[in-house]
Amino acid sequence: MTRVYNFSAGPSALPEAVLQQAQQEMLDWRGSGMSVMEMSHRGKQFSSIAAELEADLRDLMRIPENYRVLFLQGGASAQFSFIPQNILGLKTKACYVKTGAWSEKAIKDAQTYCETIVSANSESSHFTTIPDVASWVCDSQAAYLHYTSNETIHGVEFNTTPNSKGLPLVCDMSSNILSRPIDVNEFGLIYAGSQKNMGAAGVTLVIVRDDLLGQCLKTVPPVFNYTEQVKNQSMLNTPTTYSWYLMGLVLKWLQEQGGVTAIEQCNIVKSAKLYHAIDNSTLYRNPVEIVSRSRMNVPFILADDSLDKAFLTAAEMNGFNELKGHRSVGGMRASIYNAMPESGVDALISFMQEFERTH
Ligand SMILES: *Cc1c(COP(=O)(O)O)cnc(C)c1O
Repeated sequence: MTRVYNFSAGPSALPEAVLQQAQQEMLDWRGSGMSVMEMSHRGKQFSSIAAELEADLRDLMRIPENYRVLFLQGGASAQFSFIPQNILGLKTKACYVKTGAWSEKAIKDAQTYCETIVSANSESSHFTTIPDVASWVCDSQAAYLHYTSNETIHGVEFNTTPNSKGLPLVCDMSSNILSRPIDVNEFGLIYAGSQKNMGAAGVTLVIVRDDLLGQCLKTVPPVFNYTEQVKNQSMLNTPTTYSWYLMGLVLKWLQEQGGVTAIEQCNIVKSAKLYHAIDNSTLYRNPVEIVSRSRMNVPFILADDSLDKAFLTAAEMNGFNELKGHRSVGGMRASIYNAMPESGVDALISFMQEFERTH
């Protein structure tokens, strides 16, 4: 068996130790005589998996008592529509910061439910910058301010939590959650899909402050009504049990690595090495302004795009997979989430340097 270095943006590489544990427990989860996939979600075994999952997440992110943690379905994409429907209340508008493809989608979907005010927009820089927070225009009558902390496609990331000027701050953290410490108290709502930094696809995490609950539109299906799901521990319907279990294993692995503060140091080192290699080459280039570069998704273009195909073919032959950039941006993209070891980044850099030397 050979495992490649997988640079996919999502679903993405999982820690090998997690896959091995899942393999060991596949047929018989801890003496239960069953696979987790076969267990009732109401039984005591799965209940213990669910309880530990929430406790470990609360521990890793230091989630305060006045926040509820939901594990839903439909991906972060469903939340683009369900956030306004759940928390607008009597308000009719919401503020959005447009920094790339994902925030653009969030805005487009919210427009069905409210007036969206674009508080800041980096489109004129082709989404290679984060607009200076001092210049953001927020409407005090808005229900919330939404931003995307890491733009997975454009490779731009907020390096601090922005000041929301009194509005509840709502954040799509799908592609950088658990990669750096944040203070949950600064947020009204955080959401993220599981398949980038927390496990396999199938779980959508929503962390929501208590005071934002209880105002969901009646037209929303109960499974997407936060208040209903809080009452039912996210089990109003059958949850994606195996994905919950895998997320639990990833969180335990992260605790073993020393938690979010320790993994942040790894992420700083890995991304700095890769950007340094790109900046010091004549073949590769990253267009993002330095302070806004993502530690998770590193897009780069080749000076001569007729070499793209040869680059990708040679990469795969050498065990570096999923490096093709998103179709809307072109070029290459290396996604280096928590699970990518530093050795994978080192090996990629060596490969890139060798390719440059021979082309
Ligand atoms: C991947 C991603 C999404 C979409 O996630 P789905 O699970 O496919 O709905 C949304 N936002 C960001 C920032 C992402 O990286």
